Amino acid sequence: MSPSQTSDRPVLVVNAGSSSLKYQVVHPLSGDVVAEGLAERIGESQSVISHTQNGHTDSDELPLADHGAAIARALEFFAANGTDIANADLCAVGHRVVHGGRSFYRPTLITPEVIAEIERISPLAPLHNPANLIGIRAAQELLPDVPSVAIFDTAFFHALPDAAATYAIDRDVAAAHAIRRYGFHGTSHEYVSKAAAEFLGRDYDDINQIVLHLGNGASASAIKAGSPIDTSMGMTPLEGLVMGTRSGDLDPGLTLHLNRVAGLGVDEIDTLLNKRSGLKGLAGENDFRTLTASIVQGDEDARAAYDVYIHRLRRYIGAYMIELGRVDVISFTAGVGENASSVRADSLANLENYGIVVDDERNALRGKEPRRISTDDSAVTVLVVPTNEELAIAQQSAALVASAD
Ligand code: ADP
Repeated sequence: MSPSQTSDRPVLVVNAGSSSLKYQVVHPLSGDVVAEGLAERIGESQSVISHTQNGHTDSDELPLADHGAAIARALEFFAANGTDIANADLCAVGHRVVHGGRSFYRPTLITPEVIAEIERISPLAPLHNPANLIGIRAAQELLPDVPSVAIFDTAFFHALPDAAATYAIDRDVAAAHAIRRYGFHGTSHEYVSKAAAEFLGRDYDDINQIVLHLGNGASASAIKAGSPIDTSMGMTPLEGLVMGTRSGDLDPGLTLHLNRVAGLGVDEIDTLLNKRSGLKGLAGENDFRTLTASIVQGDEDARAAYDVYIHRLRRYIGAYMIELGRVDVISFTAGVGENASSVRADSLANLENYGIVVDDERNALRGKEPRRISTDDSAVTVLVVPTNEELAIAQQSAALVASAD
């Protein structure tokens, strides 16, 4: 969290999804955001792009054929707001890359060799890495003089203990196909756990933490004395907690049944588990705000989905308490974790015997800064810590470029 660079030149952070592209220009030291934007439905006949700068948002509906077209349109928005991005003194373009495989676990300056290696490991994340590469190539073409850096979502978890990283399948098959647990959302888990230590004024390496990143995608991690020892996502981001549209943990035999008995092909199963499961599969709705409103109106499917979500969350919290032995802090983050007080209360309810007591009044308060929601005498401190993956990517990118100078 304390980048080594001394100047505060801005970084363009790019997060390219399969049909979307998020970007932000941010100063890594001050955290000041110059502008940010989001392009969606890239490749469709009608794409949407919005850009926020100087306190107001412009948006446009137009066909954006590819990620290059989205970045080019973003640069036009910058120009219309008086910023010539090619001359904006950017120190780096920082790209979120989902899967680093076993090859990448540090911020990495992007060279043709690095691009080739990201391409080689793309089968590990077929929905994500190809899109990340398109974003990298498009940004390099439009900003050829700015160094580009890859920040890998798997990096923080690269040294998970073997016992946590290994699937109990045939060793040779696993080795031949790079099958192991990699973990994802690492940039957020690292940022939040370090921010939690800083908030508490504790040495990062002295405390044991559980981080619950609950957004549309969701994952949990256990961090012992500064090192991650387990996380809920595995070889892919499908494992673990119940998510907005992903199932999380399943009996693997279920996928065989879907194929043999239900007659679904592999791509159909992929879509079912990634896009039509989780809260959406159970209640028809993956947005937590709508789900909560439906529960209030007595929707039984929404209530059942919520119960499954909380049940899984508690199972992971319990497992990580045992793995860690002693837990000092539990932090909630991301859209649901930062906003849904009922999720925080329900996932930690009735754990007084384990030293966890949430204070209802503190939990009901809202805010954008890290805050404590446990009682003063709760042995385990419970926090809400807003995540900021863009800032973390900007800081890591700027620090790498500064150290390479
Ligand atoms: P991602 O980055 O994975 O797309 P986010 O971290 O933005 O996801 O989280 C999105 C989720 O957060 C959605 O389910 C959304 O409904 C939920 N969320 C956002 N604001 C609130 C709120 N005020 N109350 C409850 N849930 C919220």
